[in-house]
Amino acid sequence: MNTFMQFTVYGDRSQDCLNAAKAEVIALENRLSVTLEGSDIWKLNHSGGEPVTVGDDALHLLKTTRDLGDKTGGALDVTLYPVVKAWGFTTGEYQIPSEEDIASLLEHVDYTAVTWEGSDVTLPDGMAMDLGSIAKGYAGERCAEILREQGVTSALLNMGGNVQTVGAKPDGSGWRIGIRDPQKGVSDYLGVLTVIDQAVVTSGGYERFFEEDGVRYWHIMDPDTGAPARSGLTAVTIVSRSGALCDGLSTSLFVLGLEEAADYWRDQGGFEALFVTDQNEIYLTAGLAEAFVLTQDSGYTLHILEE
Ligand code: AMP
Ligand code: MG
Repeated sequence: MNTFMQFTVYGDRSQDCLNAAKAEVIALENRLSVTLEGSDIWKLNHSGGEPVTVGDDALHLLKTTRDLGDKTGGALDVTLYPVVKAWGFTTGEYQIPSEEDIASLLEHVDYTAVTWEGSDVTLPDGMAMDLGSIAKGYAGERCAEILREQGVTSALLNMGGNVQTVGAKPDGSGWRIGIRDPQKGVSDYLGVLTVIDQAVVTSGGYERFFEEDGVRYWHIMDPDTGAPARSGLTAVTIVSRSGALCDGLSTSLFVLGLEEAADYWRDQGGFEALFVTDQNEIYLTAGLAEAFVLTQDSGYTLHILEE
């Protein structure tokens, strides 16, 4: 998954459990990767519009991203892949595509065109998709499930900056998760979030980006413009029990911006969020008011969003 992961598992059989979790990540990578030949997603992208029989994981994530796409007015769109590629985010050979190029690529972006019957999925010819917006969070969720099935009651899974926790720390206290400062102000961390048995997933403009003529271009794209999403948010952290939900939402709410994201939270619920704006403000949903501690002298102002 193109990142560094670190798992900490407590208990008697922790080494066996660690091995099982590691095997699950590798299996998921083999099924969901956009680049590995033979993965479900690779097969879809090379299907020429013919149906492909996919595994349960790919199908589940297709349904989840479809649902989130529908609920966010299309802010999450798994068929943006050709656009992401045109900006160079898949290879690191960054460039600003021409407006004509973006416009013609956007003609083949539409997550609602992906259809399925049972586990036979059809991606229209000329389109391509990737699950980069949700796969890491899902991998964390699956690993946590496997650990819980094996009786683990305490584990911390760091999936390249996205965190999945199982239970509490061995002493019963919550896990303290540092939330990165998108601008690296007085501290690398703008604060600490304490959670038990939850996933904590962040999408930020600082994670993968390039700069040209003093402008920063990041890897989270607005499907309406085919360009990096400029919503006034610099980072979005989502907290919920489901890593996949967290990951899909962190990306799509980043695209929506504060106001629409807050409305989404009020309408849908089922998660908590921390929004960082380019005006040095942090907005916490009410459920995180107690769990979050701001770094002293961070330079950020804290606000609580009420239901
Ligand atoms: P994340 O880091 O979870 O926010 O996911 C970002 C990744 O998802 C990018 O590297 C792209 O591969 C993909 N992506 C970017 N923008 C979108 C979007 N609006 N909808 C779906 N996937 C996206
Ligand atoms: Mg995401």
